[in-house]
Amino acid sequence: MKYHNEIQGKLENFWKKIKLILTLHNSLRYHKVLTSPQEVGIEVTNSCNLQCIMCDKWKWIKKDKRLGGNLTTQKLKSIFDEAAKIGVKSIILTGGEPTLRKDFCELIEYLSHLNFNIAITTNGTYITSKMRELLIKNNVKVFFSLHGSYAELCDKLEGKSGTFKKVIKNIRDFISTKKKYKDTRCKVAIRCVVQKENVSDLASLFKLADKLGVDMVTYTIVHGRSRARLNEKCIQLLYGSFIKIKKIISTTNIDVVFHPHLLLLLTGHLNVKDIKQGLPSLSLFRSKPVPCLASYISTFIDAFGNVYPCPYASLPTYSYYPHLHARRYFCLGNINEESLSEIWYGKKYDEFRREVDAIDINKFPFSIVCGHCENYYFFKRTYQYVKLLSFL
Ligand code: SF4
Repeated sequence: MKYHNEIQGKLENFWKKIKLILTLHNSLRYHKVLTSPQEVGIEVTNSCNLQCIMCDKWKWIKKDKRLGGNLTTQKLKSIFDEAAKIGVKSIILTGGEPTLRKDFCELIEYLSHLNFNIAITTNGTYITSKMRELLIKNNVKVFFSLHGSYAELCDKLEGKSGTFKKVIKNIRDFISTKKKYKDTRCKVAIRCVVQKENVSDLASLFKLADKLGVDMVTYTIVHGRSRARLNEKCIQLLYGSFIKIKKIISTTNIDVVFHPHLLLLLTGHLNVKDIKQGLPSLSLFRSKPVPCLASYISTFIDAFGNVYPCPYASLPTYSYYPHLHARRYFCLGNINEESLSEIWYGKKYDEFRREVDAIDINKFPFSIVCGHCENYYFFKRTYQYVKLLSFL
């Protein structure tokens, strides 16, 4: 019976994906949005208790206190209600650090009653036992950020001593509590940003994840202007780490997700110059203008209620010229002034979709925003993607 249910679940998921691909195909063909956003990312706060070296947000907020923000509980609940009404499937709570919110548990409970697939990103330092139970009971996918396999490295990258110890303890507690709930679909993942100082530590981190018993490890590439950016030397070290991980993957039950950027870099599809300036996607956009698929299926709301096509497009909220100018371009509405569906189906979003049907990366502001992009090429670059899979 269990086996039968599993197969049925997989078939249903497969069918949903096919339907989504067909909808996207038709959206691009007729230049028209044909579905509500399937996924809404919400920056529930932009405050954070850490100061990671690869993150610029806390630096901007430190410079200008006016940039710190939170949506109210009431506002968030009204966004969730509307999202449920228009058929949004998944909500991802991001930050800043979402667990710093006093109403964090209340929000998770509310989302759960509305039957969303819920995911959160967390630095894992602030999770209480109450939060833990709630996240597990409500089948939430929890992405713990962890960028080093030992205290000295992790604390240095995350900007506060004692971080490693806290996060490891919290992941351990999380996994042992999860074992008590046999039926939970809660997943625990470690999310590592590959950067200059941890590039030769990736295999050790993977071994640690295995020891802890997490469900998944994801490796993404650093981007933006921080001093954590990769250089030529890092690329060779990355290759070494990759080979080590590849050797041990089959001995574990962990799902490993290497972000395509990393694989594209290893297979020589990315220009090192672009990697060095923290804009890994520039090489891909340059070879051929491609459409922004994200603008047809997902959306992102920042801590001030500004609605953007994706988290990268929201970066201009925080920085200064020329980003302020870019913000006018990418910000497609504000949830305090209009409803989610008014914005999603509105004129400005539609104009934006038409504009990004073929992104010219040489043109401002795409050069400074879409050079970060992690979204667009899954469908367009099937050939490369298949090649990358065989590389794995
Ligand atoms: S970075 Fe640009 S191309 Fe990528 S999802 Fe965002 S707006 Fe679209």
